[in-house]
This record gives sequence, C-alpha cells and structure tokens, in this order.
Amino acid sequence: MRINLDTPVVESREQRLGTIIAWDGKASELSKQSEYARKSCSSGCGEKGRRLCEMKGPFTQGSVCSEQMVECQAGNIRDAVLIQHSPIGCGAGQVIYNSIYRNGLAMRNLPVENLRLISTNLKEQDMVFGGVDKLEQSIRDAWERHHPKAIFIATSCATGIIGDDVDGSARKLEGELGIPVIPLHCEGFMSKHWSTGFDATQHGIMRQIVRRNPTKQEDLVNVINLWGTDVFTPMFKELNLRVNFVVDLATVEDLAQMSEAAATVGFCHTLSSYLAAGLEQEFGVPEIKAPQPYGFPGTDAWLRELAKVTHREELAEAYIAKEHARVAPRIAELRELLKGKKGFVSTGSAYAHGIIAVLRELGVEVDGSLVFHHDPIYDSEDPRQDTLAHLVDNYGDVPSFSVSNRQQYQFYGLLQRVKPDFIIIRHNGLAPLASRLGIPAAPLGDEHHALGYQGIINLGETILEILSHKKFHEDLAAHVTLPYKKWWLDQGDPFLLVKGE
Ligand code: SF4
Repeated sequence: MRINLDTPVVESREQRLGTIIAWDGKASELSKQSEYARKSCSSGCGEKGRRLCEMKGPFTQGSVCSEQMVECQAGNIRDAVLIQHSPIGCGAGQVIYNSIYRNGLAMRNLPVENLRLISTNLKEQDMVFGGVDKLEQSIRDAWERHHPKAIFIATSCATGIIGDDVDGSARKLEGELGIPVIPLHCEGFMSKHWSTGFDATQHGIMRQIVRRNPTKQEDLVNVINLWGTDVFTPMFKELNLRVNFVVDLATVEDLAQMSEAAATVGFCHTLSSYLAAGLEQEFGVPEIKAPQPYGFPGTDAWLRELAKVTHREELAEAYIAKEHARVAPRIAELRELLKGKKGFVSTGSAYAHGIIAVLRELGVEVDGSLVFHHDPIYDSEDPRQDTLAHLVDNYGDVPSFSVSNRQQYQFYGLLQRVKPDFIIIRHNGLAPLASRLGIPAAPLGDEHHALGYQGIINLGETILEILSHKKFHEDLAAHVTLPYKKWWLDQGDPFLLVKGE
C-alpha cells in the first residue's frame, strides 16, 4: 500500500516510486531498467531494489521546488486561501502564478480574480524564536479577509529547519474557525524533484477535504488537470459522463465530491498518480488504468477503459469510430506538410511520452528528448500505465532520451546532438536558449492542446505555425552569443560534469 493518509507528511517521490533526475541513454534502455517486476539493477553500480542507477551532478544551476508546486495547486483552489509559511523569497513565483491562474479562469469562462496567497514573511528573528505566532495570526487574517471554505498552509525549507509545529497550529485554528485548515509538508529540500509538491497537496486534500460518506454519482468523472482548456466536457458528453475538474480552478466542494465519482482520469500520470491511486485505495473510486490519451493507440485504449469502468462501451466505440474518420484527412495533410521535420520534446516526464507519441503520429522525427525527471513506476503499479513502454512499443525508440531537472548548461549539448527544427516545451525557461541557436519553440502552456484525436491536429497546426517563424530565430542566432565558455560548448557530452570527468 503506497498511500498512507494516517500521517500528515507525504512520502516523497523518490521514496515511493524511485524517482530519478539525471540519466542519459536510449528510451528503450530506460524502459527496460524501469520494468515493474524488476527486483534489482544489473548494472553493477551497487543500488538495489526498485532504484534506477542515477547520475549525480556537482551542482544545480536552477530548478523548481515542491513548495512552488503547492503554490500552483493548493493556491489555485477558488474558494480557499494558501498561506506560505516561509521567508518572502519563496513567494517570488506568486506573480507568474497569478497570471497563469487568471488566464486559466478566463479560458474556462470562470470569473477572473487574483490568487489568494499570504506569506508569513519569516525573518531572522523568527528563525531563532520560531514563527508559530506569525502563522496563527496569518490564518486569522486569511479568515477575516476572505472567509474561505478551507485554508492550506505550505511549509518551506525555513520552517523545516526550525521545526515549527505547523500541524499543531492547523489543528488549533481548525477548531477555532470551523473550516479545514490543512498543513501541506513541502519543504523544498524534502525531495529532489518538484513533483512531490503535487503529491503533498493531494495528500492534504484527501486527508481533510474529500467526503468520507459519499453519495455516488454514477456519471461523474474526476479529471486531474491544471489550467488547460476544457476539452473533456464535449468528449465526455458523447459517453453521457460529466467532468469534475480538480485540483486547479476547482472549488472546495468539487474536491469534496471526488469520492462520489465513478472514475478518475488525468492528462498526465506524473500529476495524477498519487491522487488517483489514493482515491481508489481510500474511497473506492476506480482509477482508469490505461496509457495516456495521446495518439491513436493511447486515446483508443484510454476511452475503452473509461467506458468499461463506467459501462458505456457502445457509446465509446461509436465515438472512437466517428473521431477516427473525422481527423484522418487533416492528419494525412499534416503528415505531408511535416515530412522530414525533426522535433525535440522537453517537458515533464509522462507528458513527454504522450507528446512524442503525437509527433510520431504526425510523421515528425524525434531523435532526442529531455524529461525533467523519471518515475520508474506510478502509484498504481499497473503495467497498463507504463507510459514509457507504451511509447517504445507503439512508436519505436528515442535514441537520445535524457533525464535532467531543467539544467540550462546541459540543454545546449542536448540540442547539438540531434539538431532539431523545433522544440516543444513546458516550463519555458529553456526556450530562449533554443532561440539563440535558431530553434523555435512551441510552449505548451495549455496542457490539453495535444490531447485526444483533435490534439494530433492541434499540435500539427502549432508546429506549422512556429516553423513559419524560423527565420526570426535564425536572425537571433546570428546576432547573439551564448553565456558559456568555448571549452564547455566544445564538449560533446552534456552530462560530462554529472559523470565527474
Ligand atoms: S521552499 Fe526552499 S527551495 Fe522552495 S523556494 Fe522556499 S527556500 Fe527555495
């Protein structure tokens, strides 16, 4: 049993799943090394059990942390408040998260508003004498100002170091205010990968918000997602199903009713793994055990499994046949237009597997990819969710498949290896470097853009659009210099420093 809701602290990804953040090789090799049944690694590096051999670097140039993922999850619940129990610097992301939140609300036709995030602004004195008084004051302030339906508390490296009793304060204020006050343990140093922050948010929600005595709604499906456009409602209508979007942009009531749903799906197993498995284990809501809905085989299998669980097989088959026929002509045209083009995918782990599948559907060559971490398994441990194996089995190998937590200095070498015509990226910080090399980027801010049958067309159209700007990027490349020394740029191996050579 992977999910333990008895403790307020979520187990990190590396503890639960054996997550790694540095690896380099072929996708097929990583898939083989990640086999679900494997008991030990045969490479001789001495690591045992469910752990992949991982490269370890001498420094980290820049990254994201779990606390920031809590900001963009718990901080995006519409009638809740998130308190960042931290120095003010941990709140630097509030500006960009506010813009993403507002855009997301607009895309879903919801009233546009600002985030409700409060920092306790811990200072040197608080690090010595403790910050609990400030935390409790901030919780009371949050209640006075916003009268939220729930208050979340994000811990930080600073509170982890001084050991503030955040759970005690949460319990006390929950009794005083009569609403859930939920500590989310997400100190940045607690996990080497930021996706533990997704799990921390979902852990707190399952412990303190999801209804324990649900009245079942047989046509309701939990969709674990971020801020993307609503492509699910029209799709689910064909199956007589309704969508319950969680966690971002949801209300506290949407979260509470997750236990009443007939099933749970997600757009990316990296994001949905913990919550979907927890809802099944603790509340009996089945998780759809299938590949992700990208490309024809993935979308077909995903719809069929959803239909099987919700007893709508005939409706699903009719929808699948109708959609195949609808999208086929345009996809054939896009394949012609994109013939000979090379793409490079740089996104989160499971999502990248889906995007590479869509590129291969479009006939685009994908010789290289950078994923920001790798989970050898997901919380369900079900082989049908092995997204990397699904990619390799259905679409062939990716020769240069790298795992790295967004290290800029490696990105130059990774692109030089395969010299793509364009990149597809989430977490756009790497895109300017590609531009300086004359390579345009498609930033997939809307995570649902490439999903399902229509997603194949959407992505193809986007690639055509960004390729039409290629001259602009080539001009940029001709007039800028890179910030790295010639010595580093001359090295052929982006992982040279990580190997300690
Ligand atoms: S929680 Fe830690 S790693 Fe995250 S922003 Fe704050 S100080 Fe940085």
